Amino acid sequence: MPSGPVTRFAPSPTGPLHLGHAYAALLAQHLAEAAGGTFLLRIEDIDQSRARPEWEAQIYDDLHWLGLSWPEPVMRQSDRRTAYQAALRVLWDRGLLYPCHCNRRDILAAASAPQEGAPLMGPDGIVYPGTCRPTEPPEGPMPERTALRLNMHLALQEIDSKLLFEEGGAGPDGETGRISIDRRHLVEGVGDIVLARRDMGTSYHLSVVVDDAAQGVTLVTRGADLFEATPIHVVLQHLLGLPRPAYHHHRLIRDETGKRLAKRDDARAIALYRAEGLTPTQVRAKVGL
Ligand code: GLU
Repeated sequence: MPSGPVTRFAPSPTGPLHLGHAYAALLAQHLAEAAGGTFLLRIEDIDQSRARPEWEAQIYDDLHWLGLSWPEPVMRQSDRRTAYQAALRVLWDRGLLYPCHCNRRDILAAASAPQEGAPLMGPDGIVYPGTCRPTEPPEGPMPERTALRLNMHLALQEIDSKLLFEEGGAGPDGETGRISIDRRHLVEGVGDIVLARRDMGTSYHLSVVVDDAAQGVTLVTRGADLFEATPIHVVLQHLLGLPRPAYHHHRLIRDETGKRLAKRDDARAIALYRAEGLTPTQVRAKVGL
């Protein structure tokens, strides 16, 4: 068994991989292998309305072309429903979740009520104004096909220890080293996040935390745009009794105008560079790895 860090690249198969993905994947592999560790791949396809098998096939093809390899079988989140349900049930049975029937418009209206001022934005958009939050924890079986939110205030009461994580890269404002998580910010600036979406039965936050633990990931590498999600993940690790990995948030690859690349930036798709005849070394050089 290798003793170094276990890292992963976790793309969603919803479009072509671009230079930003190439950088993320190469960095994850580099940080694992430079320290005698293991690089894993995970397909984050919980959003079945957007995931496509062609994109998944293209991910494998582009990553192999770049010179990356990983242990098989690859974990796919669409196969992990049972694990997500089990984690949700742990939280439900402790009274930490509640069903929410609000749609985006309800949330915007409640959060923009005159007495509320401008809606507060958290890592998942508008901070939930608490419309469906019950005064007593709900009882009975966990409802299905319903959005479930984490009662952040109650959840934090269950965690005695200090909330922190180790950052080996940097957040958007250069945050690095030991990062202390502010509980008040979690309640007021993050709020009752959705852990199970009605259409998916899970959420990005829940799936990532459950799967990183299941895969034995010890060093999470990802873009600095996800730094704000990390406090949520640390809370979930505490609540679910999962080990806390170290984190390395990395810079985002931007275009000439300074805008970060998105899936729609096909012009920087790895597949197009390949079609133009660039070598893997030339693509690596574009991202400095
Ligand atoms: N699937 C996420 C993405 O494509 C990455 C998840 C993570 O690294 O935590 O941005």
